[in-house]
Amino acid sequence: MEYNRPEPIQLIHKLRADRSLTKDEWIALIANRTPDLAEYLFSLAREERELYYGRDIYIRGLIEFTNYCRNDCLYCGIRKSNPHAVRYRLTPDAVLSCCRTGYELGFRTFVLQGGEDGYYTDDKLAPLIRHIKELYPDCAITLSVGERSYDSYRLLFDAGADRYLLRHETYNAGHYSRLHPPSLTAAARQKCLWDLRSIGYQVGTGFMVGSPYQTPEHLAEDMLFIKELNPQMVGIGPFISHRRTPFADKESGTLELTLFMLALLRLMLPKVLLPATTALGTIDPCGRELGILAGANVVMPNLSPTEVRKDYLLYDNKICTGDEAAECVSSLKERIESIGCRIVTARGDSLNY
Ligand code: SF4
Repeated sequence: MEYNRPEPIQLIHKLRADRSLTKDEWIALIANRTPDLAEYLFSLAREERELYYGRDIYIRGLIEFTNYCRNDCLYCGIRKSNPHAVRYRLTPDAVLSCCRTGYELGFRTFVLQGGEDGYYTDDKLAPLIRHIKELYPDCAITLSVGERSYDSYRLLFDAGADRYLLRHETYNAGHYSRLHPPSLTAAARQKCLWDLRSIGYQVGTGFMVGSPYQTPEHLAEDMLFIKELNPQMVGIGPFISHRRTPFADKESGTLELTLFMLALLRLMLPKVLLPATTALGTIDPCGRELGILAGANVVMPNLSPTEVRKDYLLYDNKICTGDEAAECVSSLKERIESIGCRIVTARGDSLNY
């Protein structure tokens, strides 16, 4: 008997109706995408976003406060084995000064992002979080400082951290092991995410699109995992190679597939927060606008001190001095308005619970 395969467009309709697909259906949809199908998908993704968030785009002030890292992820420009990385670590006072600037510019979320830097123990991070909260009680604090113990996550939450970003990178354990050193495992990564959820953080996860060795099956597994985790935010961006890493010669991910995955995420979790990431803006000058047109609703301009921005180089050619800089928020506003949306000054909590 001949099996009647659903057309990709039917799968999109099924996704919109059920908010989920089977693994085989995800694979079929991703593998058989076409430009026309993508345009249609983007229009549905915009409708879904507007249903819950209107045309509001939330901004987050990104403070990259340390680029020291004990890990050696094969794709990362600040991996510990890159002796060419110029290392820096902001003092707590410098972080507070970034927050002050950000607050004046209209930011109501500060994202403290760093490598897994042994210097920033709980004893140093918790007081910093408390201090920021005292000064800016109307702001949310997001942490993005990698894998830590349950107790550490708990302590930082109790100190006032509201949200935590930890990309799972790829769900598939075999694929994960080809992107990371043996000391890091997919299972440990995923456990951290479940810990963060159980503590009560608003959790963000995500993955690289087009990372080396990635297949549509891996992406299907990522979608199934995200559906199960049901996070408040999902950050995805194209893999972009860095010349001082073992993946220097690997091809970068594409804008096209990243936008397609973004729109699928919007249909699967319509209330989730979806950033148009810096990596998207790096592979295409209009990448972030295109991300918003595919259903994204968050941008994260850089609030780090100008002199260190060039050193937080996770991948080559990362944009760091143009409109993605927080000082250029007015020009960012114009760009967002040119595509019919508007930047808002608000904490911008996720509606996805
Ligand atoms: S990806 Fe994160 S954990 Fe891995 S080396 Fe880079 S900064 Fe460190």
